[in-house]
Amino acid sequence: MSELPSVEKYKKKIAERAFQAYKCMDCGAVIAPPLGVCYACGGSKMTWTSVSGKGKLVSFTVIHVAPDEFVAEAPYFVAIVELDEGARVAARLAGFDPLKPQEVKLGTRLVLDYVQGKSGKTYLAFRPA
Ligand SMILES: [Zn+2]
Repeated sequence: MSELPSVEKYKKKIAERAFQAYKCMDCGAVIAPPLGVCYACGGSKMTWTSVSGKGKLVSFTVIHVAPDEFVAEAPYFVAIVELDEGARVAARLAGFDPLKPQEVKLGTRLVLDYVQGKSGKTYLAFRPA
């Protein structure tokens, strides 16, 4: 069943600790967060799909000066994780000390997790597998 991409629903699934990605119904590319158009084939028919939650770290940064909403949580990691299904997801990085970013190695195998921020909100996160 096709459904219009909705970032709100994507966030709601994360808040419920029930992460799902989007899948292009034309070529099977997995996408997260939802986009209106498939990056691989330009198709626009999408459906929610469950993912293994496994992936690897491709990029990260440490946020020291956070937007107002997240000031209490800084410093924290924001990572780009490539899922085994191919989607590149932005998420928090757990299990490392943000004051020791030199200990984080690109390519580290990660598994999906969730962290609860000081605001009480739940965020998508990955930690070492
Ligand atoms: Zn596609």
